[in-house]
Amino acid sequence: MADWKGIVGRGFTPGAFRTYVATLAFSAWRPQFVVVHNTSAPRLSEWHSTPGEQRMRNLESYCRDQQGWSAGPHLFVADDLIWVFTPLTTSGVHSPSWNAVSWGVEMVGEYEEEPFGPAVRDNTVDALAVLHGWRGISAETLRFHKEDPLTTHKTCPGRNVDKADLIARLQARMRADAPGEHLPGRDPGDATPDDRADPPAPVVQGPAAGGGLFTTITATEFAGGPESGMPSAYGGTVDANAPQVALPAWLPAERRRVRVRSVATGQWVECRVNDIGPWNTRDVYWENGGRPLAEVQYRNRTSAQNGSVPENDAGIDMTPAVFAALGIPGPVNERQTHVDWEFV
Ligand SMILES: [Zn+2]
Repeated sequence: MADWKGIVGRGFTPGAFRTYVATLAFSAWRPQFVVVHNTSAPRLSEWHSTPGEQRMRNLESYCRDQQGWSAGPHLFVADDLIWVFTPLTTSGVHSPSWNAVSWGVEMVGEYEEEPFGPAVRDNTVDALAVLHGWRGISAETLRFHKEDPLTTHKTCPGRNVDKADLIARLQARMRADAPGEHLPGRDPGDATPDDRADPPAPVVQGPAAGGGLFTTITATEFAGGPESGMPSAYGGTVDANAPQVALPAWLPAERRRVRVRSVATGQWVECRVNDIGPWNTRDVYWENGGRPLAEVQYRNRTSAQNGSVPENDAGIDMTPAVFAALGIPGPVNERQTHVDWEFV
């Protein structure tokens, strides 16, 4: 029998689930998409006949003792709570072709027969939005279990679940979570709160922490001159006079802090991440090999995720205050340089 990976076994409201995921640290395992299932048995109409914690223990017994698996699916989404089963930071067992590269999300119900109602659907969309946002995965990558060529579950997650509708709802949810790059006129109510102030002294002397340093990244300048007062994708405006940067994918509030070093001067400055860009909006290159997508797009003259063909290969945008702190002269909002950076 395979070594059992253990379960989390806790149920969360959608808001608490978002908070929980923000506490997780990712290991070497890198899921690339989510596979959606329905539990089939139990049906949604049966689910609440047993307390959720007991359900988790019963499912653990089923996967570990009866099936001899090393793990199970990652989530069970009911009409009230999102239950975490197999830890989200390790691979599960749910879809034979895709266990190594995907999260498995079980929607509680038998959707060949039961109606796919708004309670399970909306909790599922919320859970998927958290996972996709966390790893910078686009909604279009979503797969249904029945699409796995090796599965025997040829109907999962059931005929009453419309994949195009689910993806559209996921896209809308993700847009609400992370408005696009440099998008003006956004509803401030959509802003993700980030009440941490900018650091009082911009220049920080110190060595890199090592490991997570992204080196020789082309940096461009933004938010100065004619762009002064530009809106931030995270809400509010970008402050040209504060050490702020943009990175090309949405980041949760607790990761929006980086340390940048000029390759030319060796100076360090600590910065708040306060926009999404340049060029791309879903490029988590810090998770994927450390090189910005814009480098390949610029070389091959292909479109970036913002729809433009990049005019340079920048992977970070920096305010005039950052260029000043790094000791790089030049006309405001036109400077381009190379930096090393790391998350703080
Ligand atoms: Zn399935």
